Amino acid sequence: MRSILLTIGMMASIMIHGQQVFGPAALQDMMAQNHDPSSDSSCHQSHCFTAGCQGLHGTNVDGNSQVGTPSWYDATSGVRSAIFVLDFAEDFPSEAQPAVQYAVDIWASSIESVIPIRMTAVWDSLSPSILAQASPLEVIHDFPGAPVANCQYAIALANQLAGEDLNPDAQDMILKFSDQVTWYHGLDGQTPSGAYDMVTVALHEMAHGLGYLGSANHNGNSGFMGFQGVPFIYDQFVELSDQSSILEFVSGTVSLGNVLESDALYWGGDQGVAANLVGRPRLFAPATWAPGASYSHLRESSYIIGNINSLMTPFLSMSESIHTPGPVSLGMMQDMGWTLPPTLCNITMVEPLVQSSCNPASNSYTQQLRVTYENAPSNGTLVVNGVSFAITSSPQTVSLVGLPSNGQLVDVEVYFSENPACSYTVAELFEAPAPCCLVLRMVEVNPQAQTITLINVGSCEGELSGYTLKSEGQTVNVGSLAEGALLAPGETTTVSWPGWPDNVEGGDLTLYDGFGSYDDYVQWLTPGNSGEFLANIYGLWETGGFLDGLPPYTYIGDPTANPAEHGLTFWEAVPYPCAFLGMEVGATSECNAQDDDFTQEFTFTLQSPPASGTSIMVQDSVLTFDGNNPWSILLTLPATGSPVDVVATVVDDPACTATFSAAMVAPESCACPTDLDGGGYVDVNDLLLFLGDYGCLSGCNADFDGDDIVNVNDLLIFLGAYGSFCN
Ligand SMILES: [Zn+2]
Repeated sequence: MRSILLTIGMMASIMIHGQQVFGPAALQDMMAQNHDPSSDSSCHQSHCFTAGCQGLHGTNVDGNSQVGTPSWYDATSGVRSAIFVLDFAEDFPSEAQPAVQYAVDIWASSIESVIPIRMTAVWDSLSPSILAQASPLEVIHDFPGAPVANCQYAIALANQLAGEDLNPDAQDMILKFSDQVTWYHGLDGQTPSGAYDMVTVALHEMAHGLGYLGSANHNGNSGFMGFQGVPFIYDQFVELSDQSSILEFVSGTVSLGNVLESDALYWGGDQGVAANLVGRPRLFAPATWAPGASYSHLRESSYIIGNINSLMTPFLSMSESIHTPGPVSLGMMQDMGWTLPPTLCNITMVEPLVQSSCNPASNSYTQQLRVTYENAPSNGTLVVNGVSFAITSSPQTVSLVGLPSNGQLVDVEVYFSENPACSYTVAELFEAPAPCCLVLRMVEVNPQAQTITLINVGSCEGELSGYTLKSEGQTVNVGSLAEGALLAPGETTTVSWPGWPDNVEGGDLTLYDGFGSYDDYVQWLTPGNSGEFLANIYGLWETGGFLDGLPPYTYIGDPTANPAEHGLTFWEAVPYPCAFLGMEVGATSECNAQDDDFTQEFTFTLQSPPASGTSIMVQDSVLTFDGNNPWSILLTLPATGSPVDVVATVVDDPACTATFSAAMVAPESCACPTDLDGGGYVDVNDLLLFLGDYGCLSGCNADFDGDDIVNVNDLLIFLGAYGSFCN
């Protein structure tokens, strides 16, 4: 059977103190009076048909909130799952029409229809407190194909279920908008302060027109249910806390009235429950019945402003927009019999999360992304910039590793391997870190000149400013010392560090890039400098080891070797120069009368001695160095009785020489020159030799006074010694 419920204008949306109450108050009044003969229907209607009976209060504030369109809604596409036929009354302002059309278009993508849903939008003078009005023009039960017997359906829904237009001569609903409201006609949801979003209001009222309403009513004492004794399909799903059905209560009783004011009514339909995040969707059922608001809406305080399901709550603020029916309300529509379009695979968002620093070892980094999607394929993979990930659940976090650090903005493309059309592309989603492939190593360190030579052993050019030098507790950025900011692979650069603390007598130098462990280290002349401890931990240096020599200190390993060559073994100092540091005077022999000489032991201590076999001249003797240090020698020297200056010189390194002045005193001379035959006694044989030499003018043995002539003076010396022994 078919019942004409009401004409336009009887469904009130009531505004009190700036807040909107949507709802079929008048419809409920009408239903109550129509099927409950015991009530004082005329009084009831006159009492509640006007806005004044609502008794609801709200704060007059802007909501400043926007909820966008459904993820599946594409405003540009021509394909819609439902057919709506929308007519505008002649005086409907053209500037207001796009907002209503937009709301219709969103619904046309949110449900399916086989029979066109026909509606007319009217512009009229409503009560100043009324924003808009809508309801089904008709409810109908037990039509051919009705899924549930003895149950009223909105005509638009009944048409779909019947597969034919059950009332081809009439509209299915009429939307009536007030001409006395400050409307925002825009489609973008950016509703300004003080205005109401027409798209939102149209979406809300259309839901009621499509059947989102129940039949319950209240007269301040008793509760009522059903229209002409027949409940609505909506009523079938309304439950109490204990999941019992509201239909178990008898219409016209106080107990039903109490339940309707219990603030404990829930939606029990499977699809509505499934779409709710926690438990059953909760309905608006305040302790005092609010005509037009109670029962046929979601509970305001459970779906607060900004909630994706807040369209079908009873309150709307100014500057609040909600451009989606919300999954809960759509689930409720599905429970009541509406078919929803197949939910297609959809990637709705890709967000950058954590980004790692550039790793100098690989000049790469890791980027974490969060991908939000729905209805992912049941197999295959999620592909993000060509990298496949197992599909888990949305939102899914994935990590892209080994991305090149090039400082560029990165585009992201995401799709499912089993459904490449289900994709999402966003340009320049995040920025790669700057390159860090520069890998610096020290090749020469000169604390005296305060210079450091560095080589880039990395595979690409990089910024020197990524590196720091540290010595004696002082640090300096390499980039601040270098003339150029970049260093090409394989190139070296020598930087000067004027502020380098003086550690010529011993110190260390650390090189690091701020990423992970130290990168290079060298220590000279003294152990235990400030960087040694960590350098040892990082495998760069042996504790206690240091270079012993003069600067510059030079790396002699292979800087590109793998594993890296670090440590004392791979460094070299300039050797100290060869020098005679000291000499000890050893045993001295007696004077040897034969040659009037003596033998003397000397022991030299050398710095950087020459190679074994090298010739070293000591006094007039060329000796062969035996490689020992200290080096002991035995010299034969004339017995002069005078202090001896000992001079030692490496023959082929004349700079390696030393003179030890008056190192010792030679024994007194023990010569016996008149013993010309060496017989130990000056006798006649010596006289004969003297006489044979007499008159000699050169190289003469008997020239005792050394005047290069053997004459009477020498004879007198000879005679003076005649007959004496020589020792
Ligand atoms: Zn409403």
